[in-house]
Amino acid sequence: MPQPDAKLRRQSLRNLPSIDEVLRNDGVADALRQLGAERSAVLARVVVAEMRTEAKAGKVGTKAEVLADAVSKFNYRTFLETVSGTQRVINATGVVIHTNLGRAPLSIAAQQAIIGSARYCTLEYYVAEGKRGRRGRRAEDLLAQLTGAEDALIVNNCAAAAFFVLTAFAAGGEVVISRGEMVEIGGDFRVPDVLSQSGGKLREVGTTNRTRLSDFEKAINKKTRMILRVHPSNYRIVGFTAMPSLLDLSTLTKKRKLILYEDIGSGALIDLSDLGLKDEPVVSRSLADGADVVTFSGDKLLGGPQAGIIAGRKGLIEKLRQHPLYRALRVDKLAYAGLEATLEAYVRGAATAEIPVLAMLGQSGNEIDRRATSFIASLRLSLGRSRKAKIEKVPGNSAIGGGAAPAVQPETTLIAITHKSKTAVAIEQALRLASVPVIARIVNDRVVIDLRTVSETEGHDLVTTVANVLGS
Ligand SMILES: *Cc1c(COP(=O)(O)O)cnc(C)c1O
Repeated sequence: MPQPDAKLRRQSLRNLPSIDEVLRNDGVADALRQLGAERSAVLARVVVAEMRTEAKAGKVGTKAEVLADAVSKFNYRTFLETVSGTQRVINATGVVIHTNLGRAPLSIAAQQAIIGSARYCTLEYYVAEGKRGRRGRRAEDLLAQLTGAEDALIVNNCAAAAFFVLTAFAAGGEVVISRGEMVEIGGDFRVPDVLSQSGGKLREVGTTNRTRLSDFEKAINKKTRMILRVHPSNYRIVGFTAMPSLLDLSTLTKKRKLILYEDIGSGALIDLSDLGLKDEPVVSRSLADGADVVTFSGDKLLGGPQAGIIAGRKGLIEKLRQHPLYRALRVDKLAYAGLEATLEAYVRGAATAEIPVLAMLGQSGNEIDRRATSFIASLRLSLGRSRKAKIEKVPGNSAIGGGAAPAVQPETTLIAITHKSKTAVAIEQALRLASVPVIARIVNDRVVIDLRTVSETEGHDLVTTVANVLGS
C-alpha cells in the first residue's frame, strides 16, 4: 500500500470516533442491550483500535463514513459473539447422530421433562413418602426393565462409564482384551489410554482379525480381573475374522471368577434390524449372553440426552454406587428428566415413533423423496419469479453418525442447489449464518440438503431460510 501523505493521515485519525461516540450511536442500541454496558465498552475499544490501525495504514473517510464503519464493525462483532454460544440449528446434513450438532435430538416428551425439571424437582426426593430419595432411581428402574439387568447406574457419558468400571474393578490388576478391539472412537476415546488411566494393566491377546477362546484362556493369571470386549463402533473388520462368542467368554469368566465387561457404545435398547442396523448389539442380548456389566451412551442410538449407562449385576452396580468416584461422575437433574422420558417411550412400545433418532432412521427412501418434492414446490413458490437458482432432486445417502454402524448408509433423496451468481461456498455460509442456522453439505460444488434429519416442524423455517438466501 502506498504511504498516504501525512496530512491525509492526520485527518483520518482525527475523524476516528471516540469509544463513547460509538456507544451512543442509535445504530448500536440493540447490540448494547444484548451485551450489556461493560462488554459493549470492551468491544467498542477493540473496534476503535482496529480502525486506528487501518487509518494509519492509509484508510481514509469522512467523519460520517468512519462512524458508520465503526457501528457496522461493532454490530458484526456483537453478532459473532452471540452466535458463538449453544443454539438451535437445523441439521440438513442427513447425519442422524451428528456429534458436532449435539448427537440425538430429544423427543417432545424428553424436552418437556427437561423444562419441567429445570425448576425445583424431585431429584433426590420421594413424593410418595415425603422424604429424601435416591437420585436416579426411576431411570435406573426403567433401564433394568428394558435390559433385563439386575441394576443400573448413570454417569456423565460412556467414556466416564468405561473409565469408572475399569477403575473400580481392574485397578492394580490385568484386563484381557483382543487386539481386534483396541479401538479409538471419535473424540479421543482410545481403549488403551482409558485403561491405563484407570490403573488397570492391559493384556492384549490374539491378532487384529482373529482371536480365539484359547488366546483368552492362556492369558489369564493370578492378576487377571476381567475380560473386556469393546464394540468397534466406528469401523468394521470383514473377511477372515474370528472372535469367541460372549456366551463362550462368559463360561470362561465364570469358571475363573472374573468379570466379563462389554463396552457396547451405541447402545441399542431394542433390535434395530428393521431400520437397517443389523449388527448393532442389543443391550439385553449382551446381558443375557453373560456379560456381567455393560456400558453404553445415552445420546447415540438410544436417542436420549448425553449420559453413560452402566447396567449389570446387582453387586457390581452397588459397588459403583458406593464408590467415591461416582460423586464426581454423576449427572444432573436435566439429564435424568430427559433420560426417564426417553426410556418411558421404550417401555410403552412407542420408541420408533416418538424418539427422533429412530423415527429418522425409519423413514423410507420413498417417504423422503415425497418430502423432497413437496419441499422443492414450497421453495419455488417462495422464490417467486426469480430463476437464478437451480433446485433439483438427486439420489444420495444419509449416515448414522456418532461412531455407529459406519457401513449403513440409508438411501435418501438430496435436494441439490446451484445458483447463477452465488457459489456453493457462499450459499452454505449464508445458510449457516441465518437466524436459525441451517447446516448443509457441499457435494460436487452443489449445496445439498437431506430432509432425513429435518423434522416436519422445521420444514417452514427451512424453506424460509433457503428462500431468503437464494432470493437475496
Ligand atoms: C461412543 C463410544 C464411547 C464413548 O461414548 P461417549 O458417550 O461419547 O463418551 C465409548 N465406547 C464405545 C464402544 C463407543 O461407541
